[in-house]
Amino acid sequence: MVKAEGVHKSFGAVEVLKGIDLEVKQGEVFCLIGPSGSGKSTFLRCINHLEKINAGRLYVDGELVGYRQKGDKLYELKDSEVAVKRRDIGMVFQRFNLFPHMTALENVMEAPVQVKGVSKAQARDRARQLLERVGLGDKAGNYPSQLSGGQQQRVAIARALAMDPKLMLFDEPTSALDPELVGDVLDVMRDLAESGMTMVVVTHEMGFAREVGDSLVFMDDGVVVESGNPRDVLTDPQHERTKAFLSKVL
Ligand code: ATP
Ligand code: MG
Repeated sequence: MVKAEGVHKSFGAVEVLKGIDLEVKQGEVFCLIGPSGSGKSTFLRCINHLEKINAGRLYVDGELVGYRQKGDKLYELKDSEVAVKRRDIGMVFQRFNLFPHMTALENVMEAPVQVKGVSKAQARDRARQLLERVGLGDKAGNYPSQLSGGQQQRVAIARALAMDPKLMLFDEPTSALDPELVGDVLDVMRDLAESGMTMVVVTHEMGFAREVGDSLVFMDDGVVVESGNPRDVLTDPQHERTKAFLSKVL
């Protein structure tokens, strides 16, 4: 579903991704861990083309991200074409960034109506189902300010799902939450994983990675240091850098 081959990304003179190779299979929960500044968020942003890579190849669902290939030549996609591709990728950030002036229900309905042209009645039905699914059936009429952080994050997940994405990207979805709110959000993510969704999850929740993850990559300083089955990497890391990192977070 996602394939990276030698992906490089620099900001000015600073090289943030130094040749990332990895593959996320269909239906897999792929966890990405690593120290602050190692390039995890940047890599996620490259996947949905919020950042443009400088070298290498990045594919989503078999298609090059941001380019069209004709023979040996690559043509950059127009912004409008990139926007269409991005609809298939749901993204959930650390900060929930819901629309503050809209209720939970309206937040979830917004993109299907505005972007996909779904009828309001249909979008409303679907939004209700999705809020139900994330355990917020009774909060549909609440504004974000009337919801806890964990509830807002679950609305954000429902909002992403409303576009029927084929891939979901999570960037530390629980790290801004009070500890007692983390579990509900992880439960929703676990359900989503069980439903077969392909998920790339940047997280510091090693318990989640171990229990739900199918693959785990440890990134440091813009490279993949170690990867494998989460149970194996977390219990028996092979590289010094992985050991040092895990000794701080476990
Ligand atoms: P954290 O765990 O703190 O979220 P991260 O692994 O997600 O860290 P990134 O956010 O990908 O790290 O950042 C990697 C490096 O790239 C950092 O040194 C950061 O300062 C730099 N960086 C990220 N975005 C930009 C940008 N738009 N312009 C310049 N530098 C950037
Ligand atoms: Mg980050």
